[in-house]
Amino acid sequence: MDKIKMTTPLVEMDGDEMTRILWGEIKQELLEPFVELKTEYYDLGLPEREKTKDQVTVDSAEATKKYGVAVKCATITPNAQRVEEYKLSEMWKSPNGTIRAILDGTVFRAPIMVKGISPVVKNWKKPITIARHAYGDVYKNSEFQPKGPGKAELVFTAADGTEKRQTIFDFQGPGVLQGQYNTDESISSFARSCFQYAIDTKQDLWFATKDTISKQYDHRFKDIFQEIFDAEYKDKFDALGIEYFYTLIDDAVARVIRSEGGFIWACKNYDGDVMSDMVSTAFGSLAMMTSVLVSPEGNYEYEAAHGTVTRHYYKYLKGEETSTNPMATIFAWTGALRKRGELDGIPALGEFAGKLEEACVAVIEGGTMTKDLAGLWEGKSPAKAVTSVAFLKAIRGELEKRL
Ligand code: NAD
Repeated sequence: MDKIKMTTPLVEMDGDEMTRILWGEIKQELLEPFVELKTEYYDLGLPEREKTKDQVTVDSAEATKKYGVAVKCATITPNAQRVEEYKLSEMWKSPNGTIRAILDGTVFRAPIMVKGISPVVKNWKKPITIARHAYGDVYKNSEFQPKGPGKAELVFTAADGTEKRQTIFDFQGPGVLQGQYNTDESISSFARSCFQYAIDTKQDLWFATKDTISKQYDHRFKDIFQEIFDAEYKDKFDALGIEYFYTLIDDAVARVIRSEGGFIWACKNYDGDVMSDMVSTAFGSLAMMTSVLVSPEGNYEYEAAHGTVTRHYYKYLKGEETSTNPMATIFAWTGALRKRGELDGIPALGEFAGKLEEACVAVIEGGTMTKDLAGLWEGKSPAKAVTSVAFLKAIRGELEKRL
């Protein structure tokens, strides 16, 4: 069989620890034998970030803007302990944060579902994708604790010097106080990323806030979504037979729990933080969550939702074979290859991605899986827990049957 040819490179962002090891194995076992991989390689592993003073992260994000599609391995976000461990000259920022700031996008997370590992919520038949607005609100708040009686006010000084003032509360004793903000610009790009992703994946989009209580703040989110939808996306949604649906967050929670899944749930920053953990836990495992950053200009960065699996890496360094789950990282590659195929008009890339995903799911459904999944397995015969290498080989076998 001839290898599938690519025309535009994928931006390949390599990473750290156990996921870096898996990255190489996935390419070698599942991609390079079948696709003439064309990538522009950026090493976002911590040693290279240190060496380039983190310029490599910025360069990789700029390359994503140039080519449109990136695939990223999990990376270490340094803390004090990592600064020591890697002898860093600085506590470099989170690569995901840097990339997101440059691309300005929204992160969509969706579980990979397999028969034999069922969601805790029994009626969830299809994945629920969470879109979290990753800007502002309580994550960029200003807060303090008044120690005694006094008046708290909201003051806005316009650029021309005029002042607007509003009493928040007359404190009779100690308490707590908080200010937060968001911008029309960021909310608009969040909305556009969500509408675009709904079109890309042909799924309904739900959005919910607490606008009955927050009549200015949350209401602004609701209005911006509706205005952009009506002006730019309604016709496209109608043509695809998909729906945009706004409701109060309380109602959304109730509907999500009773639903079959199969839609995108757009959440404000805090709601998305909490709900994505709830939804991913209810679907089973962090190792089965995929993640894609979609920018309002239509740039895509695919990755796994999990980290570098440090505990396994230390075992690996001691020469032990690990049973690390490569599913989400494989699906980051298939997502990126499929998108590249779509943009470049190479259907063979999309077909390959689909077959590779089917092969992965078939191996698990056949009872062979990594250790993290074996504990969740509800199949008739007992699960066969294997090492990552054996798991990848089993996927290769299933893939070859399909090609
Ligand atoms: P982690 O996701 O690596 O691990 C969390 C837990 O889930 C661990 O118990 C781990 O064993 C398990 N787990 C996660 N993925 C798994 C897989 N594929 N197979 C089997 N088990 C899996 O997160 P952590 O331990 O909090 O962080 C480790 C490192 O990863 C940190 O340095 C952190 O900065 C980094 N991190 C990176 C990203 C990213 O690049 N997107 C996200 C989260 C954490």
